[in-house]
Amino acid sequence: MGRGQERPEAAWERLDACWKAAFSQAWEALRTGNIPVGACISTREGEIVHAARNRVMDGSGPAGETWGSALSHAEVNALARVGFRQHSDLVLTTTLEPCLQCAAAIRLAPVTTVRFAGADSYWAGCHDFGRLSAREAGRRQPRRVGPRSDELGLFATVISRVGPALSPRYEEWLRQAGEGALLALARRLSRPDEVTRLASYEVGAAFARLYPELTGLRAELSAGAS
Ligand SMILES: [Zn+2]
Repeated sequence: MGRGQERPEAAWERLDACWKAAFSQAWEALRTGNIPVGACISTREGEIVHAARNRVMDGSGPAGETWGSALSHAEVNALARVGFRQHSDLVLTTTLEPCLQCAAAIRLAPVTTVRFAGADSYWAGCHDFGRLSAREAGRRQPRRVGPRSDELGLFATVISRVGPALSPRYEEWLRQAGEGALLALARRLSRPDEVTRLASYEVGAAFARLYPELTGLRAELSAGAS
C-alpha cells in the first residue's frame, strides 16, 4: 500500500515522539480555549527536553512559562524552559509555522533545526532575519523543515484557526491569502457543539475523524494552486 492510500491511524502512529508531543500540546490548547498550537524541544537524537503550548487565554501556568498575554505562544513557552547555555544543537518541533516573535526567540535559542507541520500564510517569511543586517545575513540560520505536505500539515493549520471568531481584518487577510476553504472548515469546527465533540477525542483520533475532510481540502487547495 502506497502512502497515498495510507490510513490516518498509520500516519499518526508513524510520527516520532516529538511530533506527537507537539500535537498533544496543541490539542490541550484547543481543549482549554487557547490558540491551538503546541511545540516540543528535543535533542538531535530525539530526547525530549520540554514541550509546551499556547497559553494566551490562561490565568496561570507552569513556572517559567508565560500565560495570559499576546506573548504566551507555544514556542516561547517551550524555549523559556531551556536553561541558558545548557544546550546546543536543539530541534524545535511545532505544529504551526512560527510567528515573528517565536522566530526571534528561536534565533536567540540554541536551536539548529525547526520543524513545523502547518503553513501559516500570515507569518510566512518572518523568520528571515538575514534581511535586517549584514551581520545577521552572515550568520548560519536554523534549518527549516516544513510545512508538511500531508494531511497532518493541513490538520495543524486548520486547528490553529479553531476557537473564538478571528478579528474581521485578520480573517479577511487570511481569505485573501488563499485560506478561504481552510477557514470554512475551521469555522464549522469552532461551533460550540462541534468543538466540544472534537475535544472529547484524543488528538490522533480527532485527526483520523477529520481525515476525509482534510483529504478533500488538500485536493481543493492543490487544484486551486495549479
Ligand atoms: Zn508565535
